[in-house]
Amino acid sequence: MDRDCPGISPYGRDGMNRTYDRLHRLTYVILLLLALSGLLDAISSLLTLETMPIVARAFCVLSVPVLLGAIIWAGWAVAAKRPRHRAEARAVVLTITVVFLWDLALSLTRPTAVLTAAHYQAYFWKFLLLSLVYPLVFSYKRGLAGIAVVLFFAAVIPFRYIFESTPKDRLLLTTVEFLASYLSFVTGIVLVILIGHTKHAYLQVDREIESMRRLAQTDPLTDAWNRRRLNDAFAEAIAEGQVPLTVIMFDIDSFKEINDMYGHQVGDQALITTTHLAQGVLRSQDVISRWGGEEFLVLCPATTLEQGIQIAERIREAISSHAFDEVGTITASFGVAEYRPGETVEELVARADQALYVAKERGKNCVEAAGFRTQFPSA
Ligand code: GH3
Ligand code: MG
Ligand code: MG
Repeated sequence: MDRDCPGISPYGRDGMNRTYDRLHRLTYVILLLLALSGLLDAISSLLTLETMPIVARAFCVLSVPVLLGAIIWAGWAVAAKRPRHRAEARAVVLTITVVFLWDLALSLTRPTAVLTAAHYQAYFWKFLLLSLVYPLVFSYKRGLAGIAVVLFFAAVIPFRYIFESTPKDRLLLTTVEFLASYLSFVTGIVLVILIGHTKHAYLQVDREIESMRRLAQTDPLTDAWNRRRLNDAFAEAIAEGQVPLTVIMFDIDSFKEINDMYGHQVGDQALITTTHLAQGVLRSQDVISRWGGEEFLVLCPATTLEQGIQIAERIREAISSHAFDEVGTITASFGVAEYRPGETVEELVARADQALYVAKERGKNCVEAAGFRTQFPSA
C-alpha cells in the first residue's frame, strides 16, 4: 500500500504481488470486522436511546449509515480481485476511527455508564485492532503518526471520567487497574509498530527486486529489453501457444561510418532514437530488444510471416523517413522469420539473421523474409 495503487505492477502478478494482494485483502477483512462491531455497538445503543443525551442519540443514528457504508465498501473490497485504491481505504479507516472516538467520548457522557477497567479494556482492543490497519493503509511514518494520535485520544478521553467518578477510597485500585489495561494496550501498539516495520522492510525489498529485475532485463542505453528478457518472452509465448509467432531482426546500415563521422555519442543517440521510432510503430503485443551493438530483435506473438513483413516495413519506413540529429538519414535492413514448431529460439533467430544478411546483400534498407523473397522495395 506504499506504492501508489500498489499491486499494480508493470511486471505482472507474480509471487510478490500475490502476497501483496493477500495483505490488502486481510486489511479489508479487518476493516469489515471493525465496522461490523461498530455497527453492533451502535444498534445496541439505539435500543437504549431514551437513556442517552440528545448528542449521543444523534451520533448513534448517524453512525449507522456511515458504518453500513464502510461495511459495504469493505465487503466489496474483500470480494474484488484487485486491490482498491489506497485513498478509499484511507477514507474508510479515518471514518471508522472518528466513529470509534466519538463513541468512546459519548459513552462517557451517558449518565448510567459506569466505565470499569473491563469496559475500558474493550475500547482498548477496538482501538488496537483499528491501529493495526494504520501502517498497512498509510505510509510507514503516517501510519505511526496515526497510531500515536489514536492512542493519545483513546488514553486521554476516559481519564477525566475515571478520576472524577471514582470514590476516593477506590482511586488507587482504579488507577492500578487502569494502568494494567493501558499496559496491555501499549504492548499491542508495539506489536502494531513491529508489523509496520515488517511491511516497510518488505516494500523496500520489493522495490530493490523490481529495480534489479529491470537492470537484469533491459538494455541500459536504449531501455529496450535485452537478449535475456527476449529469450524468456519467446519461451513464454511458445508455452502459452501464441503462435503463429514471428521475429524481425534489423541492423542499422553502415553504422560504423556514422560513428566514425559524427562520434560515438551521436551514434548512441541514433540507437536510442531508432528504438523509439520502432516502438512507435509496434503493436502493444510486440516487444523490441537490443540484440547487440546496432542490431535489434522484435518479437511479434500471434503474428504470421506476412504480418511480420508488414510490421518490419513500417519500422523501416519510420527509420528511413526520420531526420536524425546531425546525421540526417539513417536506414536499416530487416530479416523476418516465422517460428516453425519444434524450433529453438537460436534456430529461429539464425534464420532471421540469414534473411537480414540477404537484405544487406540486396543493397540494404529493405525487408527480407526467411524462406522466400519479398516484393518490398530496396533502397
Ligand atoms: P552494415 O550496414 O553492414 O551493418 O555495416 P555497419 O557499419 O553497420 O556494421 P558493422 O558491424 O561493421 O559496425 C557496427 C558498428 O556499430 C561497429 C560498432 O562500433 C558500432 N556499435 C556497436 N555498439 C555500439 C554502441 O553501443 N554505441 C555506438 N555508438 N556504436 C556502437
Ligand atoms: Mg550495421
Ligand atoms: Mg551489426
